[in-house]
Amino acid sequence: MVEFDLNKRYEMFLFQFGKELERMFNDQKEFIMCKEGCSHCCEKGEYPFSKLEFDYLVEAFKTLDKDTKLKIFENIARINEEKSKFTGEQFMYDCPFLIDHRCSVYEHRGIICRTFGLLVEHEDEHLTMPFCQEFGLNYSKVYDNDSRQIVIEKDGKPLCETEPKAYRISREHVLKLSLAKNLNIEWGESKTLIDYINESDLVNM
Ligand code: SF4
Repeated sequence: MVEFDLNKRYEMFLFQFGKELERMFNDQKEFIMCKEGCSHCCEKGEYPFSKLEFDYLVEAFKTLDKDTKLKIFENIARINEEKSKFTGEQFMYDCPFLIDHRCSVYEHRGIICRTFGLLVEHEDEHLTMPFCQEFGLNYSKVYDNDSRQIVIEKDGKPLCETEPKAYRISREHVLKLSLAKNLNIEWGESKTLIDYINESDLVNM
């Protein structure tokens, strides 16, 4: 029997999981405002990554041209400067791989990047709305900010044609999917992207 290495198995996982995600985004397309050049989801986050996801992203980073790498190094330096002055509890930052509103490592982006935009149902059944709703984007047509609930009709008139659905695609859930188990995916430890960057020798690549 052919034994695939972890990288190959992860690519198989991404292919299968990607098809599932495509189906979900397609099903919810009435509420999805994602378009090229929109990068709100890469501009404020912690970006949790597993070791496997980070190593896969680094593969794409290595192939970038010198100028793009320099821009990423500048971003990393700026983030670390901001981080050193940060005194709050949860440090949020622009992803350093975001260059001119585009992901420079798109095909190798993390799970959290792939799932962002949909309504998420967590294991305790609470829902998370994508935060770009605040900017009038995803799901904003059916989200009532006053009651903080999804509302599908107003004054007796429907606000949407399809049903807004939440999916079990929290990162914690995705890492435990049977697809990942069947492919024997070893994720490794999860950390924020900037922590992984600082522990790696990315800046020397
Ligand atoms: S890796 Fe790419 S998609 Fe993910 S947050 Fe960074 S810029 Fe955005």
